[in-house]
Amino acid sequence: MQTQTINVQTGAPGVQHQLQVLCFGTAGPKATIQAALHADEVPGMLVAHCLRERLLKLEAAGALLGQVQLVPYANPMGLTQHLLGQHQGRFDLRDGINFNRNHPDLAPAVAAVVKDRLGDDPSANLVIIRAALREAAARLDATHPAQDLKNKLLQIAVDSDVVLDLHCDSQAVMHLYALTPHEALARELGALLGAHAILLATESGDSPFDEACSRPWYTLQQQFPQHPVPLACFSATVELRGEADTAHELAQHDAVAIIEFLRRRGIVAGTPQALPAALCEPTPLAGSEPITAPRAGVVVFRQEPGARLEAGTVVADLVDADSGAVQPLVSQSAGVLYARSATRWATPGKRLAKIAGNTLARTGKLLSP
Ligand SMILES: [Zn+2]
Repeated sequence: MQTQTINVQTGAPGVQHQLQVLCFGTAGPKATIQAALHADEVPGMLVAHCLRERLLKLEAAGALLGQVQLVPYANPMGLTQHLLGQHQGRFDLRDGINFNRNHPDLAPAVAAVVKDRLGDDPSANLVIIRAALREAAARLDATHPAQDLKNKLLQIAVDSDVVLDLHCDSQAVMHLYALTPHEALARELGALLGAHAILLATESGDSPFDEACSRPWYTLQQQFPQHPVPLACFSATVELRGEADTAHELAQHDAVAIIEFLRRRGIVAGTPQALPAALCEPTPLAGSEPITAPRAGVVVFRQEPGARLEAGTVVADLVDADSGAVQPLVSQSAGVLYARSATRWATPGKRLAKIAGNTLARTGKLLSP
């Protein structure tokens, strides 16, 4: 294992945040796995800890056919952000911008470079595009530390065949997000991890990290239909259940599933095991139904994460402290309740729960703020 230390642009004299990249293997197909880009979502850091141990053993046994870059904490800035006793790891306290939004879109810069160089051979096109992606990522510059952090993370991951961004939700069952044209690989990963929901979109809005890695290939494929462009980077945001779900058994299970996924990608040696039975069918992210509080009140959930709901199910009651009214909040769609809020005081407009349905067709920005 080689350790690479990368300095993030400093925000003040005397302050230096650093990323560590643990590199296993030296050649062949590459995977990048990063944990806790939302710095208060720490189950991924525990999975990274399990992966480090397993990858060290695989490397020592000569069982790595490719390379794995492990970023055990992707947001050192966010790890330091505490406000009045609460960890604030989702948004940059400087400007309120979500650490997993507004990642650079390299597609326009790459398109300009490759437009006259693409040919009829998909593997040659892959090499040309990947080199252009590396160069475009290397040219990114930043005016503040959070933007620089996003640039550095993309520079690490940009030429990977597989990118897994490990997050979690507030209270949730295992679920993941990926690009619609990567449905087959998302199904494999979902079956191995035991996902209860697989949410697919060609663009979820606001450029989360997984899409900054995978979408340029899709964009170029759409832009140059006369040339074969492979979707050469599979990327997924993996939501490792809820923020309090740090258990050694769960983390070991998830690490085993990820290693098995890497084996299927030719990065880890050995014969892949048969896939476990899938717990869900993929659904469109546009069909994910937010259950939103229409007013302030005390939240009393009537359904647990993982529950399979019919349309018209009462998900929660909202109790109004002024009038004493109890308002049931009802799902419009059938589907799996894959995540819910961890707080029990609703402010008007707060998203309290999410249901993976396929009857809604939302438009615009599809992710939570
Ligand atoms: Zn997150």
